[in-house]
Parts: sequence; C-alpha cells; structure tokens
Amino acid sequence: MKYLGAHVSAAGGVDQAVLRAVEIGADAFALFTRNQRQWKAKPLDDATIEAFRTACRRHGFGPGQILPHDSYLINLGHPQAEGLAKSRAAFLDEMQRCEQLGLTLLNFHPGSHLKAIDEADCLSRIAESINEALSRTRGVTAVIENTAGQGSNLGWRFEHLAAIIEQVDDRSRVGVCLDTCHAFAAGYDLRTAEATTATLDEFDAVVGLDYLRGMHLNDAKSKLGSRVDRHHSLGQGNIGLACFTTLMRDPRIDGIPMVLETIDPSIWAEEIAWLRAQQEVTP
Ligand SMILES: [Zn+2]
Ligand SMILES: [Zn+2]
Repeated sequence: MKYLGAHVSAAGGVDQAVLRAVEIGADAFALFTRNQRQWKAKPLDDATIEAFRTACRRHGFGPGQILPHDSYLINLGHPQAEGLAKSRAAFLDEMQRCEQLGLTLLNFHPGSHLKAIDEADCLSRIAESINEALSRTRGVTAVIENTAGQGSNLGWRFEHLAAIIEQVDDRSRVGVCLDTCHAFAAGYDLRTAEATTATLDEFDAVVGLDYLRGMHLNDAKSKLGSRVDRHHSLGQGNIGLACFTTLMRDPRIDGIPMVLETIDPSIWAEEIAWLRAQQEVTP
C-alpha cells in the first residue's frame, strides 16, 4: 500500500489541512503545525486539536499517513550555544505539538555547520539534539530528511544520515524521509529505472530501508550533483517520470507517506492520480 499526498497548507488551522488533502484525492499529507518562518508560535488550542483529530478520523487518516514538517529556522547542529539552544527548544515544541495532535512522525532537515565546526561535530550535535527531544516526548519518531547539500547543510550524503542514527540512543524512534529532488541534487542518479533502484540499494546498504519513514516525491529543476535545491513538477525536471514509476512499483517502499512538494499545487490531484496508476504493472 502506497500512501500518496502533498504538503498542503494549514492556513486557517491545522484541521483545514486535512480537508485540503481530501480535495486532491490524497491518502497521505504533510503540513506545518506552526508558522515555519517564525520562532514564536502560538500554542495549539483545545478546539483546534479536537477539530484536527476529528477531521483525521472522519477522512481515514491514521498517524502513519501524516508527515508534519518542522520550521526552516531550526538548526539542530548549530555551532553556537545560543543558536543551538533556541533550535532545540523550538524542535521540542514541534515534537510536543505532534504529541498533542496524535501524530507519530516529525520530518526535519538535520542541520548546518555554518562553516564554524567540522562535519563530524555538527552530526554529533544533531544526534544529541534528537536524543534530548526524544527523552522529553513520547510516541513521536524523529524523521531526518536528506538534503540537497546547499550551503553548509549536512544530510546530503547517506553516510551523514547513518552517522546521526548511529549516535541516537533510541533507534526505534528515529527514521529517514528521502526527498528525490534533494537526493538527485546531492549526486544520486534517479534518471532511469536502473539508476533509481541502484540509489535505493545504496540507501539500503548505507542507512537501511528499515529506517525509511516517508518520502518526498519531487522532480528537480537543478542538475545532478549541483547541490542546489529547486523542486519541479513530476516529469518536468531533470529526473523525469521513470524514477516515480519505479518507486511506485518497488515493494520495499510500503505503508509510508509519500508526499509531493512539487511547485504547482493546481496539478497535485493529477500527479497523485498518475502516481497511483503507476502501481499497476502493464505488460
Ligand atoms: Zn524538507
Ligand atoms: Zn522535501
């Protein structure tokens, strides 16, 4: 079973995101549970929490089909004490919001060394940030997203993800979200069925597919290995459709939210329908 959806807007309240997912024929979705570009966030009120839980129940979304994304400001590998503390506090708030909403996954970008510390130090800080958040929450898995490797962002090599996971105390509550655009920009080829399978095999060997908790399905405006993060609609970028057909037919990827972050929301319903149709193998 492949759960398919998009990162929908939560404008007007998180419960509104559920309805937007329904409108595009999704059985998975991603959302921000707070303004992703501000440090300060208003706590979720009881009415909003109840409305969200009711909408999920009514429309058949279980927690395993929902992949909330944290704020872009958070840097769990921050080189300076103040920035790190601020990021850790905001991340804990994100995790607690998930607990309140009955959600079990939180997708985040690992962090950046800002050219002030080395990679290994930054990866250890990220793992320690995860340990701190996990020890203070229950039932929510920290889902690390692979990045395009823009600037000083880490997490673009599968080895970075493995190094973070290795330093997490409770490995039952850490996972990975694989973003196809980010992987491609980081240098992992996805342009053919064979290349896509080889990239998944490499992920399996370095990280382990057991850790795969979600996927972001995006084509790329950026080139292979460019380390530039520019999403595109499926089939319109440098990855092409074969990758997505291959993913839809790979039995190793099952029962996780697969979410579009493509650039034209007006065609999300079509993209989801197309992805679903790829699951039927035509002779
Ligand atoms: Zn992301
Ligand atoms: Zn993504």
